[in-house]
Amino acid sequence: MEISHILSEAGLRPSPVRILVARAIAGAGRPVSSLELERALETVDRSSITRTLVLFSSKGLVHSVDDGSGSVKYELCRHFGEEHDADLHPHFHCLSCGRTFCLDSEPIPPVALPEGFEASSANYVIKGLCPSCRKK
Ligand SMILES: [Zn+2]
Ligand SMILES: [Zn+2]
Repeated sequence: MEISHILSEAGLRPSPVRILVARAIAGAGRPVSSLELERALETVDRSSITRTLVLFSSKGLVHSVDDGSGSVKYELCRHFGEEHDADLHPHFHCLSCGRTFCLDSEPIPPVALPEGFEASSANYVIKGLCPSCRKK
């Protein structure tokens, strides 16, 4: 789907900054931190990036991924607009290069919750070395 179309679906005016940020997240192919976005988008100032990320999150357009590295990463929701947001997948955080990858093909293992608990999201992160760091 076209980025500007996704933005209008979310009820957002497709401003240049929003399009740039959404494109940068989509183009990264893995979850990116706001610092990585700042570096990739030199023409956009930090506060605009932060504001845009908050806005995108509130609309369900991006998911934040807490990979335990201390900097939250963002990824575009792949199932945006679908009734059930089934976009829950594990992530792999490389301890050497610091990159975080989506493990799309693997579902998050189901955890039976005790009586009375209701889950709204899950964060499943595996840590270790990515293929390029393992080769070193
Ligand atoms: Zn790595
Ligand atoms: Zn992901």
